[in-house]
Amino acid sequence: MDLITRENPARVAEIVGSVPVTDPAAVDAAVRRADDAFRGWSGLPVAERVAALRRGADTVAARVEELAPLLARESGKPLADSRGEIGFAVAFLRWVCDEAPAVLAATEVDDDAGRLVVRRKPYGVVGCVTPWNAPVILAMLKLGPALAAGNTVVLKPSPLAPLTITEVAAALPAVQVIHGGAETGRALAGHPLVRKVAFTGGDAAGREIAATAGAMITPAVLELGGNDPAVFLPDFALSDADYERLVMASFATAGQVCMAAKRLYVPRARTAEFTEAYLAAAERVLVVGDPLDPGVTMGPVISAAAAARIRALVAGAAGGTATPLGRSAPGHDPASGYFVTPHLVTGLDDHAPLVAQEQFGPAVPLLAYDTEEEVLVRADAGELGLAASVWSADEERAFALAGRLGAGFVFVNTHNRTGMSLRAPFGGVKRSGYGREYGREGLLEYVQSAVVHVPAAFRPGGPGMAPGAYPGGVHDEPPRSAGTVRPPL
Ligand code: NAD
Repeated sequence: MDLITRENPARVAEIVGSVPVTDPAAVDAAVRRADDAFRGWSGLPVAERVAALRRGADTVAARVEELAPLLARESGKPLADSRGEIGFAVAFLRWVCDEAPAVLAATEVDDDAGRLVVRRKPYGVVGCVTPWNAPVILAMLKLGPALAAGNTVVLKPSPLAPLTITEVAAALPAVQVIHGGAETGRALAGHPLVRKVAFTGGDAAGREIAATAGAMITPAVLELGGNDPAVFLPDFALSDADYERLVMASFATAGQVCMAAKRLYVPRARTAEFTEAYLAAAERVLVVGDPLDPGVTMGPVISAAAAARIRALVAGAAGGTATPLGRSAPGHDPASGYFVTPHLVTGLDDHAPLVAQEQFGPAVPLLAYDTEEEVLVRADAGELGLAASVWSADEERAFALAGRLGAGFVFVNTHNRTGMSLRAPFGGVKRSGYGREYGREGLLEYVQSAVVHVPAAFRPGGPGMAPGAYPGGVHDEPPRSAGTVRPPL
């Protein structure tokens, strides 16, 4: 049996663990088992499903201290971040459990237009394919809503961080985890018994998954890359703590976050002041070293290939000035793993690859602008539209500009994870994908409306209708009442 062996990206000589590769025949068997389990799991009342998920959340919560070092060692994410990610995944799952009964409830309208029941029905088997940069939360964003809604799940995590999520998923009912790379992902997304595909990852895999699912008429939710602009309005007023938060909005997880602040647009007249405060903040909060060292805030990147790609982006930033940021932890040896020195790069134009592409690593460009209309156009340039941020001392002004930006989520006076909300739908516009995670919309991704209806005309004693007639003439009768909420069936 082939194995995926994962090394510690901070100490590449150290093997963290291994998982067996799931071959296409075993993928087929897993999907069939999930399909067999679907009738039983979806047949449970939502309260029972939610109770089982709450027990799973409690099991994971009780293991955070044990799992966080494993996540740190396989992904390179600092220990505090690893602990935070698992804790956030538990909080999200509990939020889903709180919200699911109401969101999934069927509605019934029974009035003089007829009787109409709309149920929220699960799809069946959901195939999930997830990346390595936040392997626990990005899987939980799919598992929680899909399972609460009554779907069964087959999850394929990234071969670059398969270990912690396998442990987490084992605490949940109706989930199987399979392992492998693109080939395993393809076999899952294209399986005829997979009724919905949920994917988070990069552009190339996203396009292929969308095509594979589309060929089967399988609906998909795609959470793809971003190249988030952070726009500082001329009146921005940042404290030292704000600058520190801004630095980490770009460099948390070594910049390998879909919604990291990836381009900083600063009013030309204030760039010198901004740069000085930014470099000082980075010196205070950005500490590069081994993720298990509690003083470290930035670990290595995920692989040797990623490190080479990001170093080339910085080296190729022609015409710009790259300033190294932060400091090394005492005793840190950058040669022990895939470490990349974090950089702020100034003086580039918007066509430079570091600006125009998603860098997905620890290098961020600072770009000067002159007018608000100009910065709107520049911030929205390109094919990606995941998140963005607007920073201003005037919240009204920030909200007004934020509403004009072409992104699925605009943070005000913060960026990245500190700006997230469990209740706010998250997802991209343009080529950043489609579908939403988090919030009520994130739950509704995993159900389809199914209707049972009798028009008033055909109820006992009803007047009937001419053969071939359209109901209610040109306009259908709107429901006369708001409807009653029934427990989901
Ligand atoms: P990736 O696309 O290389 O891999 C993601 C997953 O897809 C992995 O499990 C991989 O094995 C699998 N895969 C790869 N090719 C496939 C194929 N052809 N068919 C089926 N499965 C395939 O992405 P990555 O490098 O793991 O993650 C980085 C990307 O993910 C970045 O672009 C980042 O912005 C994006 N991302 C987006 C979000 C979001 O919420 N929008 C969140 C995190 C990461």
